[in-house]
Amino acid sequence: MSNSYDLIVIGAGPGGYVAALRAAQLGLNTVCIDSRKGKGTKPALGGTCLNVGCIPSKALLESSEHYEQLQTQGLKSHGITTQGVELDLPRLIGRKNKLVDRLTGGISMLFKANGVDSIYGQGKIVSPTQVEVVDPLTGKPSQTLTADHIIIATGSEPTSLPDVPFDGDRIIDSSDALDFSEVPRRLVVIGAGVIGLELGSVWRRLGSEVTLLEAMPDFLPEADRQIAQEAKKQFIRQGLNIKLGARVASAAQQKDEITISYSSNQEHHTEIADKLIVAIGRRPFTESLLSPDSSIALDDNGFIVVDPQWRTSVSSIYAIGDVIGGPMLAHKASEEGIAVAELIAGQKAALSYDAIPSIIYTSPEIAWVGRTALQLKNDGIQFNEGSIPFAAIGRAHALGNTTGFVKILAHSETDRILGVHIIGPQASELIGEAVLAMEFQGSSEDLARTIHAHPTLSEALHEAALAVEDRALHRVN
Ligand code: FAD
Ligand code: NAD
Repeated sequence: MSNSYDLIVIGAGPGGYVAALRAAQLGLNTVCIDSRKGKGTKPALGGTCLNVGCIPSKALLESSEHYEQLQTQGLKSHGITTQGVELDLPRLIGRKNKLVDRLTGGISMLFKANGVDSIYGQGKIVSPTQVEVVDPLTGKPSQTLTADHIIIATGSEPTSLPDVPFDGDRIIDSSDALDFSEVPRRLVVIGAGVIGLELGSVWRRLGSEVTLLEAMPDFLPEADRQIAQEAKKQFIRQGLNIKLGARVASAAQQKDEITISYSSNQEHHTEIADKLIVAIGRRPFTESLLSPDSSIALDDNGFIVVDPQWRTSVSSIYAIGDVIGGPMLAHKASEEGIAVAELIAGQKAALSYDAIPSIIYTSPEIAWVGRTALQLKNDGIQFNEGSIPFAAIGRAHALGNTTGFVKILAHSETDRILGVHIIGPQASELIGEAVLAMEFQGSSEDLARTIHAHPTLSEALHEAALAVEDRALHRVN
C-alpha cells in the first residue's frame, strides 16, 4: 500500500464512506481512515449511523412494533388473535447486531470493489496535505499518509450533562440504550427530541414505563405545530409520559435506582428510574484530529467552519457531515460527501439544503421537508395550505391505520411547494415524493396533476395537493 493518495478521507460514516466511494468512481486514488471498532474487536465501517444510530435504532423500532402489535391483540380487527406472545430480548438484540454486522461488512466489500484503501486508526492532520495514522489504544503513530486533498468526516458524539455523567450502566447515551440485557421497569429519557422519541418508543413497546423530560416548553419545536400537536396526543395515548418545560439539573445514583432532579415552572421535582438515557443532542467530534498548530477554524460550539463549497480555512482540506453542523442526518452527510468528491475531481456541485427531509420513525411516523406554516408566517410569505387526513384514503383503511394527515404549503402566488408535513403510516416513504417535487421546484398543481396509483397511501399527497385549492375529492370541502 503506497502512502501517497489523491484523497484522504477521515471517518467512514455516511459522509466519509460515501465521499470515498464517489471519489474512487471518479478516478481519485482514495484512502479512508476510521477508528471505530464494532462489538467484537473488528474495525467497523459505517460510522455512528450504521453501528449505533440509524440502522440499529430502526431495527429495534421494527421488532418492538411487531411485539406490541401481537401483545396488545393489535391484529384482532383483521380476525387474527394471538396467544402466549413472549419477548426474547437477547434474540431481538441479536437480530439488530447481525444486521449491523452485515451492513458494516458491506461497506468493506464496497471499498474493496471500488479500490478504496481502508485503514483502521485515528487520523491526525499534521499538515495541509499530511495525515498521521495513530493507534487509538496506544496513541502511537503507525504511518503518515500524503494527499492533495483531505476530507474530514469525523461526525459527532452524544452531548452529556455536566451533573449527569454517563457511567455506561445506569446513566447512558443512545448507543448503550440499543443494548439493554433486560427491559428496564422505569426508564427516563432526558430530551424529547428524535432519539428520545424513537428509543423511548422502543422500550415502552417492550414494556418499560417511559418518562421523557424535555427542557423546552413546546413539543418538537422544529416540526409543524399541527403535526407536533397530533404527535404529542398519539404518544401520550400510547403511554409515553412527556413532561415539557422540565430542565434536568442533576441525577444521583442510589443502590439500584437513579433520582433525577429537574425544575419545571420554577418548582423542583424528582423522577426515579432504573435506567436514564441522556439524549440532549450531539456535538461535533474532533478529538485528537488536529495538531495544536492547526489553522483549521472551529466555531464557538466546536463545529468545523466551512465555506459554501465545504472548504475549511485550509484550502486543501474539506469537511462534511455532522462535524460541520446543520441537520445531523445521514443523508445530509452523504450528499455533502458526494458533492465534495465531485468538486475535488473538478466537477461542479451544489446541494439543496431547503429540500432535506426530516423523519422521526415512531408510530405514527413523522416526516417533513421545507418550511412550516409558522416559519412562513414569520418570514412574511403568503401561502395556501391543503391538508387531508389518512382517514380519507382507502389504502389506510385497508392497512387498519388511518391516524394522521398530510399537509402541503404552497406559495399563494406562484403555487410553488414550500413545505410538506406528514404524520401517519409510511410517512418516511411518502416524503420522498414531496422532496422530489421541491427539488424540481414543483407546484401543488404539479402534484395534483400527477397520476397516483390506487389504492396507495401516496393518494394522500395527491388529495392534499388538490386541497390546496379546495378541490380535494375524497373529503367534504
Ligand atoms: P459519523 O457517522 O459519526 O461517522 C464518523 C466516523 O468517524 C465514526 O466512525 C468515528 O469513529 C470516525 N472518526 C472520528 N474521528 C476520527 C479520526 N480522527 N480518525 C478516524 N476516524 C475517526 N440520521 C438519519 O439520517 N436517519 C436516522 O434514522 C438516524 N438515526 C439515528 C439514531 C441514533 C440513535 C443516532 C445517534 C443518530 C441517528 N442519525 C440518523 C444521525 C446520523 O447517525 C448522523 O447524522 C450520521 O451518522 C453523520 O454521519 P457522519 O459521516 O458525519 O459521521
Ligand atoms: P435533539 O436535538 O433531536 O433533541 C434533544 C432534546 O433535548 C431537545 O428537544 C432539547 O430541548 C432537549 N434538552 C437539551 N438539554 C436538556 C436538559 N438539560 N433537560 C431536558 N431536555 C433537554 O437531539 P437527539 O434526540 O439527542 O438527537 C441527536 C441528533 O441525532 C439529532 O440532531 C438528530 O437529527 C439525529 N438523529 C436523527 C434521527 C432521525 O433522523 N430519525 C434519529 C435519531 C437521531
